[in-house]
Amino acid sequence: MPHSLKDQTARDTSETWTLLKLLRWMTDYFAGKGIDNPRLDAELLLAHILKLDRVGLYLNYDRPLDAAELDTIRPLVKRRGQREPLQYLLGSTEFWSLQFKVTPAVLIPRADTEILVEEALARAGSSGKLLDVGTGSGIIAISLASELPNWQMTGLDISEAALEIAAENVENNQVAAQIQLVQGDLAELPPQQYDLIVSNPPYIAQQEWDELMSEVRCFEPQLALLAEHDGLECYRQLSGQAASRLQSKGWLLVEIGYEQADAVKALFLAAGLNNVFVREDYSGQPRVVGGQA
Ligand code: GLN
Repeated sequence: MPHSLKDQTARDTSETWTLLKLLRWMTDYFAGKGIDNPRLDAELLLAHILKLDRVGLYLNYDRPLDAAELDTIRPLVKRRGQREPLQYLLGSTEFWSLQFKVTPAVLIPRADTEILVEEALARAGSSGKLLDVGTGSGIIAISLASELPNWQMTGLDISEAALEIAAENVENNQVAAQIQLVQGDLAELPPQQYDLIVSNPPYIAQQEWDELMSEVRCFEPQLALLAEHDGLECYRQLSGQAASRLQSKGWLLVEIGYEQADAVKALFLAAGLNNVFVREDYSGQPRVVGGQA
């Protein structure tokens, strides 16, 4: 544990830790550990522990922290310093303006995945059936269920641990009537026909693994990230099954890595999908590929 914080609390000197002082200390500590947004992470962590919002933090800068509060904060500061993602420490995160529980059993939702949700919404009629392949924490199916009350959704994942988190998120977001969670492998999709199949599958190639930032490489589930061979294996399997699992005019929509657009487009065309398109994210990188049966 960081020395100054430990010594200070142990000695219980007259020099107290006010909220602002701790915030500054944590910011410096995180910066020294190479964390991208040290001040923001310090604020979010403190706000979480003290059960304040960020405005509440600003209004309480002079508030002294007691020994029990410092004891709670200390291990979390240490874990963040070791690059454990903030979202795992907080235990939840926001996606599509909804709240989702996250643990190391699931990938942390990325804002980019909202592009996939948008593209699915743009193609969804008033009712239908959707399959979310590799649902993880359930963000895609749950966000879409919240927008499409007359749709039935299936969230498929190979990981039982992930499905347990997804089930909690389904409950917490009150969409249980619309979502069924199924354990299974994407190599064999449920034998039904869907109007929409969406997926944010693992797409990192083995040779790219070492370049990932520590937060991802050391803490997020490899199963959710790493795809065999060239990183395209899941797209091959999904597009190969599209013809038999999509209704006529149904869409397959997938999130991709920014260098995979051409390869995934080619796979979709080879699988006989029509109206194949690529959508960029808000930073201008190709992010979603879609094709119609
Ligand atoms: N569907 C989840 C997400 O988009 C999980 C994806 C995954 O585990 N590859 O975050």
